[in-house]
Amino acid sequence: MNSPVKNLGDMRERPLSSNVPLVLTIVVPCYNEEEVFPDCLLRLRQVLSQLRENGKISERSCLLFVDDGSRDQTWQLISAAHRRYDDVHGLKLSRNRGHQRALWAGLEHADSDITVSIDADLQDDIQVIGKMVDAYLSGKDIVYGVRENRDTDTVFKRNTALCFYKLMKILGVNQIENHADFRLLSARALKSLLSYTEENIYIRGLVPLVGFQTEQVFYSRGSRLAGESKYPLRKMLGLALEGITSLSITPLRIIAFTGFAISLLSFLTAIYALAEKILGSTVEGWTSVMIAIFFLGGIQMLSIGIIGEYIGKVYLEVKHRPKYIVDEYLQ
Ligand code: UDP
Ligand code: MG
Repeated sequence: MNSPVKNLGDMRERPLSSNVPLVLTIVVPCYNEEEVFPDCLLRLRQVLSQLRENGKISERSCLLFVDDGSRDQTWQLISAAHRRYDDVHGLKLSRNRGHQRALWAGLEHADSDITVSIDADLQDDIQVIGKMVDAYLSGKDIVYGVRENRDTDTVFKRNTALCFYKLMKILGVNQIENHADFRLLSARALKSLLSYTEENIYIRGLVPLVGFQTEQVFYSRGSRLAGESKYPLRKMLGLALEGITSLSITPLRIIAFTGFAISLLSFLTAIYALAEKILGSTVEGWTSVMIAIFFLGGIQMLSIGIIGEYIGKVYLEVKHRPKYIVDEYLQ
């Protein structure tokens, strides 16, 4: 996986040029999802059988549930489903590592022609999976599921998401707006994605870097089937920070630029202050000194903080720590 990916053209040939049905793996990260799991399992298996009946995917297609260190009964439910159905596989991580890593773990264990990743709460429209497969068959390697509306999200979530996409765009990170982690990847797109070896991952920002032919399929996003969001504000901010600092160095440039502008300003101020002194009109000066100290102190601390964030990232990256550890794999 670590060597640069070369000539992946031939990886596409089999599914496109023959009538052998595709093997599809649907990867579902789950964290404390005992409430939605039974429904999720039922509905996704229905989608698989529909696609099998239409002759689009092979009998070997399967569901891969990744348990991201849940503390509830999620893993017990996954193992029970695995015992009962041949097409249900389970991967248990040794502890909670977050949505992105859980998804990555699932993608690394998927061995198929195409993979579709989707959240366990099925807020994304599973009927769109068929359209994704069609897009793959027409030659696309990456098919993004894109929400047409966010009516079912809270006002807070809708607005924070909007601000985040705008900010990311300004910072030069290319990502598909209103697309979460509901997407289809061909085997070669997946292989290319997995060749990005960084430890801090923001999958949504990495996929567009892969290239190949892409397409978007639109759907309207529903509410969670059951349970509550596993993305509290803290995790959302973490994801945003991860996305920005792992894909953009613009904040470092902004610091450099601000530093330059402020230095220029203080140079001019110094000339002004000296001129005032020479002209004999001395000023009390306390207020301006206080303002200057606070202003510069603030800017400096902010700048050091941002630089620290990047250094921290380098520190974590050079350790080459594993993104996740597998506790159990039910194949
Ligand atoms: N998830 C995970 N690990 C975590 C948090 C979430 O695997 O630490 C999974 C969760 O089970 C779900 C998906 O990531 O399948 C998205 O989470 P959620 O639906 O709660 O996020 P939201 O839709 O509220 O953004
Ligand atoms: Mg959700």
